[in-house]
Amino acid sequence: MKLAMLETGGELKPVAVELAGDEPRYVDLCAVDDSLPCTVHEILEQGLVDRAERAAQTGVSQERFIDGALRAPIARPSKIICIGLNYGDHARETKAEIPSEPVCFGKYPNTITGPDEPVRLPAVAKKVDYEAELVVVIGKSASNVSADEALDYVAGYMVGNDVSARDWQKGRPGGQWLLGKSPDTFAPIGPWIVTSEEVGDPHDLSISLKLNGEVMQDSSTKELIFNLGQIMAHLTQLMTLEPGDIIFTGTPSGVGMARNPQVFLKPGDVVEVTIEKLGTLRNPIID
Ligand code: ZN
Repeated sequence: MKLAMLETGGELKPVAVELAGDEPRYVDLCAVDDSLPCTVHEILEQGLVDRAERAAQTGVSQERFIDGALRAPIARPSKIICIGLNYGDHARETKAEIPSEPVCFGKYPNTITGPDEPVRLPAVAKKVDYEAELVVVIGKSASNVSADEALDYVAGYMVGNDVSARDWQKGRPGGQWLLGKSPDTFAPIGPWIVTSEEVGDPHDLSISLKLNGEVMQDSSTKELIFNLGQIMAHLTQLMTLEPGDIIFTGTPSGVGMARNPQVFLKPGDVVEVTIEKLGTLRNPIID
C-alpha cells in the first residue's frame, strides 16, 4: 500500500494511492472508515496500518477516489535522523574515509517539504547541493533492536532529498553540519510512503537523481555501507525511535559539490529523485 497526505478543498486528508498506469488515484481513508485518524502520522502511531489497508481495498473496489495535491506524508516527524557518507562511491568522491560506524546527524521539522513543493534557497547560502536518499519510516517504537529484527519496526519507505548548504555545512567553527542541513524546506520527502511488505528487500533498489532532466546520481541501495538494520541497531542503543520518525540513509556519488566543475542549485532548477518501487519526488528550486 502507498500512504500519502492529500490537500483537497483546503483540508489535509490521509489517502491510499492507487496507481492506474502512471496516473495516481487517491482513496480518502477517513471517508471509507471514519474510525481512522486524520493523518498518516497518527495511523502509524496508533498501529492502524492494517485497518487503513482494508479501507484502501474497500475504497478502490467502490471507486471512491478524490482529487487534490500531495503534501509531505509526515509533516512533523519527531526525529529526522540522517546518515552521512553511507555509500562507498560517495565517500570516495568527497575524499572522506570510509567510516567505521554510521556517521549520524539530524535535521528539524522546519526542513520538511512535500512533493512538487519548492525548496527555498536562503540568501546567505551560495552552495546548495542535492542528495538523493532512501528514507526509512518507523512504524513501531524501537529501542535496543538488533540488526536482524530492525526491519520489523519499519512501516515503509519513501524518497528523500537531503538538501545541503555546503558553505554552511563545512568550514564553519566547530565543524558542525547543523546549519548547513537545516534551513527551511531542505528535506523534501514523498511522494508517498510505500509499506514494507510492498517494497520487499530495501537493499536492492535503483536510486537516481535528475537535475533539470540530466542524470546526476545513478546507483543502487546495494551500495549502502551500513544497511538499514545496522543503522537502526546503532541508533536504538541510545535513542528510542518512534512511529513517524524518519531516517535519511545517505546518498550515492554524483553530488554537485564533488563534480568538476561543481554544480549548485539555483532558482528555476527542478530536482527529481527516483527510487525503484517508491516513485519520483520532484521539487522546484526558488529563492
Ligand atoms: Zn545526506
